Amino acid sequence: MAGEFDLIERIRARTVARGDVVLGIGDDAALLQPPAGQQLVVAMDTLNAGVHFPDDTAPADIGWKALAVNLSDLAAMGATPAWCTLSLSLPASDPVWIDGFLDGFDALARLHDVALVGGDTTRGPLSVCVTAFGLVAPGMALRRDGARIGDDVWVSGTPGDAAAALAQWSAGGPRDPALRARLDRPTPRLALGLQLAGLASAAIDISDGLLADLAHLCRGSGVGATIDLDALPVSDALRAAAPDRDTRRALQATGGDDYELCFTASPDRRGAVLEAGDGAGVEVTRIGRIGSGAEVIAVGADGAPWTPPRAGWDHFSG
Ligand code: ADP
Ligand code: MG
Repeated sequence: MAGEFDLIERIRARTVARGDVVLGIGDDAALLQPPAGQQLVVAMDTLNAGVHFPDDTAPADIGWKALAVNLSDLAAMGATPAWCTLSLSLPASDPVWIDGFLDGFDALARLHDVALVGGDTTRGPLSVCVTAFGLVAPGMALRRDGARIGDDVWVSGTPGDAAAALAQWSAGGPRDPALRARLDRPTPRLALGLQLAGLASAAIDISDGLLADLAHLCRGSGVGATIDLDALPVSDALRAAAPDRDTRRALQATGGDDYELCFTASPDRRGAVLEAGDGAGVEVTRIGRIGSGAEVIAVGADGAPWTPPRAGWDHFSG
C-alpha cells in the first residue's frame, strides 16, 4: 500500500509542464498566469464507477475518459484547454492502479498540452472528478443560446457507437473492440470547436444523447428543431452491430457518451462549416434545421415522425 503522498508524487512526476503554471502541484493551491485579455472557460465532470463506465473498464481508459469528457465541454465552447485539476476518490491506495490511470490521463493531456496543476486524493468508492480550464477570446465562445430559426443543425463524427458498445456489454454477447474503444476513449473535438468559434451560432457536446442534448441547445436558444435520422452518418461497426434500423436509430438518437459536437450555423455558412470539418480532420454532417416551436422532432427521410424509446440519459429518472 502506498501512502497518499506517494500517490500524489506519482501524479506530480508525470504532469505536463507549461510556462504559464507559476506554481503547480505541491502547495496549498496552484498559481496560473492566464494571457492578458483572454476569458477563462471552466468545466467540471465526474465519473463514478458503475454509472459512467462499465466495471471492467481498464484504469488507463478511466484516466483518458475522465479528462476527455471535460475537454469535450471545452471543445463545445470553442475554447483552447490549458490546465486541469483532479479529485480522486479511491477504494484503496494502489500504485499500480494509479500508474495505469495516469497512462491514459497523461496520454490525452500531452496531446492537448494540458497541465494538471492540483487536486485532491481521498479514500472512498471509485470516483474521478476533473475540472478543466481553457481560454477563449472575448465574444468568441460557442454557447447554447445562439441558434436562430432557419439555421442548419450539424453533427460531427458518427453518433451511436459508444451506446452500441454499452448495449453489447450489457447484453453479455459478442463485443466489437472498435465500438468499445469509442466508449472508453472518446475523442474530444477540440480542433473542430476552435474552427467553429465565430462560425457556428450555437454548440453542445453530445454526452446524454443527440436528441436530449440538442433539446438543451434549443431550450437555451428558445427555438425548436427537426432532425432527419436517415441523414445521420453510420459507422461500419455500428451498422454491423445494429443491422435493424430502429435499433440503430435509437442508439444514434438517444445513446449517450459519444462526445461528438452538435452545432448550428446559418445556411449561408455551409461551405465554411464543411471546410472547418476538413481543417479539423473530422466529418461534419448536416442533419436538420432549426425552427420555431419548442420541440426537437425526429423524422425519417420520408418525413414520418419517429418517437424515441427513451429520451436520453437522465441520472434521476428511474
Ligand atoms: P492540502 O491539504 O493543502 O489541500 P493535499 O495534501 O490535499 O493538500 O495536496 C497536496 C498537493 O497535492 C496540493 O498541491 C494538491 O493540489 C495536490 N494534489 C492532491 N491530490 C491530487 C491529485 N489527485 N491530482 C493532482 N494533484 C493533487
Ligand atoms: Mg493546504
